Amino acid sequence: MRRTSFLWVLYASYAVLILLTTTIAGVLLSRQQRQDAMAEVEQNLTSAAQLSRDVAVPREGENATRYQARIREAGVRAGVRLTVIDTTGTVVADSVEDAAGMNDHSTRPEILQASERQTGSATRYSSTIGTDMMYVAVAVPEGAHHVAFVRTSVPLTEINERLSQTRLLIAASAGIAALVGLLIGALFARLLTRRLTRLTKAAEALAAGEYELELPIGSRDEFGRLAVAFNDMARQLKERMDTIVSDRNQVVAILTSMTEGVIAVDARQNIVHINAAAAAMLGVNAADCIGQPVWKAVRVSALNEAADAVLETGSDDRREARITGESETRELELRTAPLRDSRGEVAGAVLVLSDFTDLRRLETVRTDFVSNVSHELKTPLAAIQALVETLIDDETIDPTTRADFLGRIAKQSRRLNTIVLDLLSLSRMEAEGKGLERKPIDLRTIVSECIELCRETSQKAGITLACQLPASPVRVFANDEAMKQLLGNLLDNALKYTPGEGRVEVRVSTDNGDAVVEVEDTGAGIEASHLPRIFERFYRVDRARSRELGGTGLGLAIVKHVALAHGGAVRVSSTPGKGSTFVVSLPLAQR
Ligand code: ADP
Repeated sequence: MRRTSFLWVLYASYAVLILLTTTIAGVLLSRQQRQDAMAEVEQNLTSAAQLSRDVAVPREGENATRYQARIREAGVRAGVRLTVIDTTGTVVADSVEDAAGMNDHSTRPEILQASERQTGSATRYSSTIGTDMMYVAVAVPEGAHHVAFVRTSVPLTEINERLSQTRLLIAASAGIAALVGLLIGALFARLLTRRLTRLTKAAEALAAGEYELELPIGSRDEFGRLAVAFNDMARQLKERMDTIVSDRNQVVAILTSMTEGVIAVDARQNIVHINAAAAAMLGVNAADCIGQPVWKAVRVSALNEAADAVLETGSDDRREARITGESETRELELRTAPLRDSRGEVAGAVLVLSDFTDLRRLETVRTDFVSNVSHELKTPLAAIQALVETLIDDETIDPTTRADFLGRIAKQSRRLNTIVLDLLSLSRMEAEGKGLERKPIDLRTIVSECIELCRETSQKAGITLACQLPASPVRVFANDEAMKQLLGNLLDNALKYTPGEGRVEVRVSTDNGDAVVEVEDTGAGIEASHLPRIFERFYRVDRARSRELGGTGLGLAIVKHVALAHGGAVRVSSTPGKGSTFVVSLPLAQR
């Protein structure tokens, strides 16, 4: 048995109890045995003494030797020592000893008792015989007096022997009973320990997170009921844990899918959670940040200032932060709220980071666009206004100048019209985008048509206009007008920015599921620094030259949006002084 303290104490007390009980029972039993045996001996001695009362009276004419012999005989017959004592205490006869050699017996307790109450008994060591003896004396009456005492006695050696044997027997029985009791106790304790150990192990396993375990119920006793309750508890715990885990997973999934960055910190500003968006915004690894203080993990002062403020005041905070990365500066809106524990005390803070860099960029693009549009419209409008006012004010103006003025007014009006038409195309492309009406179109047809439209212009400019078309159709699912606009703009630019004697070539091919249209010219080319921006609205490398050539700065923006609206893309490669190639790729129509 393992000495688990509780069971050991229980078993030790049980053992002490068993030993104590058997010892007390043994002692009481042997005492009772002795008492019974003594009472029996006393009873026998009393009967023998009473029966011997007649024998003790000397017969008439009987001499002392004869009397002595009769007493001895009576003693042998009764199986006791028989002593006759007269009222003075002198031993008259004795069945075992010589009466003459025996001293005064008047003070013997049994004699004293018998002289008072007819009968007396005593147990003591007999110096005459040299052993423990029991004595019983009865008075021999004669009328109202008594004349002598008859005393019977036996040595207690035999009884003592018998009693010690009985005691031994009792001790042996008690010992066996105690041993059996202890053994049964040990067995029970072992059984109990085993069941308790099983329960303890199960509880430990449960504490370690093994919720699947099930205890065998075994019996219907308290242990069985405990096992049932335990299994119930484990099941409930598992259900609760499952709920907690699924709730947690849900929260994590929500946080992970959020475009806003979320950081939760504890009261000491150590990061408890950081979602993927926040890690990406701040350029850190989420796993490395957990458990780290904000200032150490993130190194954006606005963040720990916000957390500081919220942890101190317990109220929400809103501020903006700017994060300067390697390639760009991002603008963040930082909203911080306190996290409270069950007692309502501030136990941390949650920071929500919204990246409004793109929003701000869009705002800038919008305001730039409005100002660009205003500017673009203002120039021809101002020219028209000045010319018209001059024509109105000056009536003396000669017809040649008037005609020149009207021609300029017409040119500026056309320009205004072109700008407005381009703006409308662009806004239509942006607004409708993928919703444009489409049909399968063979790109070769569009290219041929557009080339034909430009033929005259190219001839006038002395530019060779060539095209390479594949033998089989190259079909895209597209809006006819938009495609024509895309190609028209690219061809228009190629012709505009290619000086005389140059060459413009259009090639149509397919590549990996895409239709590819390339417009190559041998023109002025574009400096690499401008390449990233030429598809922006109103962006022009040389503003004055573009205007002179009748450009609006919107052509390439329209090209880009048409390509995007059709799920395609446009790119450019250019070598200043040698020429440029614009490549548009569009997904081929599914058959
Ligand atoms: P624009 O109306 O001024 O031509 P675009 O948007 O069509 O406006 O083109 C933007 C700018 O890109 C032009 O101003 C020009 O500087 C440059 N560009 C466009 N196409 C070419 C080309 N084929 N060769 C050289 N430069 C070009």
